[in-house]
Amino acid sequence: MSPGPASFCGADQILLPPRDGLPFLCGADLAAQTLEPGGLMVRDGTIAAVVEDAGAELVIDARGCALVPGFVDCHTHLPFAGWRAGEYAQKLSGVPYEQIAGGGGGIAASARALHESSDAAVLGQAAGLAAEMLASGTTTFECKSGYGLSRAGELRALELARELGGRVAQATTSTALLAHAVPAGYSADQWMDEVAAMLAEVVALGSVSALDIFVESIAFSNSHLERMGELAADHGLALRAHVEQFASHGSVPVALAAGARSVDHLSMLGADDLGPLAQADCAAVLLPAAEFLGGEHRAPGRELLDAGALVALATDANPGTAPVVSMPLVIGLGARLYGISAREGLAAATLNAAWTLGLHESRGSIEVGKRADLLLLDGPVEQVAYRLGRNPVAIAMVAGEPVYVRDSQAAERMTRR
Ligand SMILES: [Zn+2]
Repeated sequence: MSPGPASFCGADQILLPPRDGLPFLCGADLAAQTLEPGGLMVRDGTIAAVVEDAGAELVIDARGCALVPGFVDCHTHLPFAGWRAGEYAQKLSGVPYEQIAGGGGGIAASARALHESSDAAVLGQAAGLAAEMLASGTTTFECKSGYGLSRAGELRALELARELGGRVAQATTSTALLAHAVPAGYSADQWMDEVAAMLAEVVALGSVSALDIFVESIAFSNSHLERMGELAADHGLALRAHVEQFASHGSVPVALAAGARSVDHLSMLGADDLGPLAQADCAAVLLPAAEFLGGEHRAPGRELLDAGALVALATDANPGTAPVVSMPLVIGLGARLYGISAREGLAAATLNAAWTLGLHESRGSIEVGKRADLLLLDGPVEQVAYRLGRNPVAIAMVAGEPVYVRDSQAAERMTRR
């Protein structure tokens, strides 16, 4: 049953794209987003009009507040098991990730934890994180496998991701990160043969929309990226790739030639890659929390935006390099690390992230006919990045239903008839 008619009334700012129907926002369109006062009508779970209706069944007083689309977290590693706080302490003392991974830590440690955890334990932890994400305004997020490190393990992780999607308030997507670390007993080439052999089963799950690969000296190479691109194309799946994170491997041209939907991390992106990436229909997914916490290099975020690239921001939520689920925090880190504005940061966390997941037609911006995934922020949008570490989300609505209300003050803004 869809929720009854609702309306936000008297908002100080409503973030709107320069025109309807844009699949993503880059170049001049980013600066042309408007932040005018006004209201919104919601009917049958969708945005019905950018005008207020004081007679709606549910009226939300938005005075002093900003209305923005729900955040779309387009790069997370949920569901995973346990945490790796000990590794963070090692990193703080200067041990590089490659050395931690070499000592049995890193992805392998999370793979062991996943293997040893029951389905109920994994889902319980992930659902708890999803609730935290919702409280920070994330109304859609991506799940990835990648800690299975065996055929059965990867299929189980994807099954758990699908189950998670059924039990949380948000909509989720599933990405099969089948080449994350080379499992023990395989060469990278042998493991890619195994990946090819398991794809029919992965597709048969019916929930997977993309394949992903980690290209790094400790993981897979550009030739494996090329092969993953062929496999994705053969099976009608999008290709995503973790590239240029710890070192530059020249992976972006390979990813673009393979038709990648996104290239993620890019901390070591070279200047030569800016132009071709900006020309391509490929998202540059920046993960500032991983860069900040890992003491990594900074992706050229400002340069990508100035070149006209399609930039998205995401948490990279994972137990190793980014135990972070807050998109407001990520927007704040992105603002400082890359020098991006409030409008640019919000577009990167909403419509551009939705495009990365192939969901831009239904969400990611405030447009009539889109799903009413909306956030009431308790101040102007400029405060999201400025008040770093503070959660500005007073109310989060998913498909027309207020699924998160922060406190009694926020609750007082809602009048039901
Ligand atoms: Zn990642």
